[in-house]
Amino acid sequence: MAGGESGGAILRREFREWARIVSVNPQSAIRNPQYRGRLAPSPTGLLHLGHARTFWVAQQRARTNGGKLILRNEDIDARRFRLEFVTQMLEDLRWFGFEWQEGPDRGGPCGPYSQSERQSFYLNALEKLRIAGFLYPCTCSRSDIRNAARAPHGEDDEVIYPGTCRGKQLSTLNSQPSTRFNWRFRVSDGEVVSFTDGNFGPQRFVAGSDFGDFVVWRHDDVPAYQLACVVDDAAMGITEVVRGADLLLSTARQLLLYRTLNLTPPRFFHCELMRDEQGKRLAKRHDALSLRALHEQGNSPEILRGGWPAG
Ligand SMILES: [Zn+2]
Repeated sequence: MAGGESGGAILRREFREWARIVSVNPQSAIRNPQYRGRLAPSPTGLLHLGHARTFWVAQQRARTNGGKLILRNEDIDARRFRLEFVTQMLEDLRWFGFEWQEGPDRGGPCGPYSQSERQSFYLNALEKLRIAGFLYPCTCSRSDIRNAARAPHGEDDEVIYPGTCRGKQLSTLNSQPSTRFNWRFRVSDGEVVSFTDGNFGPQRFVAGSDFGDFVVWRHDDVPAYQLACVVDDAAMGITEVVRGADLLLSTARQLLLYRTLNLTPPRFFHCELMRDEQGKRLAKRHDALSLRALHEQGNSPEILRGGWPAG
């Protein structure tokens, strides 16, 4: 695996490319002080260079607009959540040069800023979706879905749900109270979901073939990513979501949730994913490219940022 120097080289190369995309001539930029962007890291492992780059783009876009940057701690996934990662995450972000105006450590008008403290917001949205008739209880296990006859994968590698439980009602499950189920959002097969991405331009996805019915609430009583993300971005007044290109399809799913919940969606700006020397997407398992490891190896944030100033 690549060491610190090589990790720095990857970052410098990537940032050069990004300088082109995010640099805006201050004289010609249309500033929007109402701009609210966010960093939404999840404390399930160490932050690596790929996160740093995407977050840097988010920070630059907020700064260019003269707007605000919000830090949201996406600690909903209790199974992988580790308290020490939250502390490390904040330290690593500050060390690298990130500054946010609202967050779990600073407070702000849209708190709490940790997802583990926002359950009531999610339950509220869940209830709205249920009342509107868009949800059904799905009792399928992962292997049930994998083994279903027509279960192709979407581009983001999520199995396209074959619709096995579409006809199920909560009342029929209640006769077997021990049944564990996920709440799944029903999409309209064939519906086109389109949006214009700030980086990739026009996007078009078809419900039922590019993605299927998706989970909004898990059997372990926490919201799925799609729901938590939409609820929080709306409640925190986020005007533009900057995140990795692996979430383009999720944006299509989330737009359906915005519509059903009668919320105004933000704009979206997806970033190319950073890859290692073998062309593999950086993941939390690339510990040598974690900000912490690079820091411990004596790299300075200035060097890792490829000469980008902090302010
Ligand atoms: Zn099912």
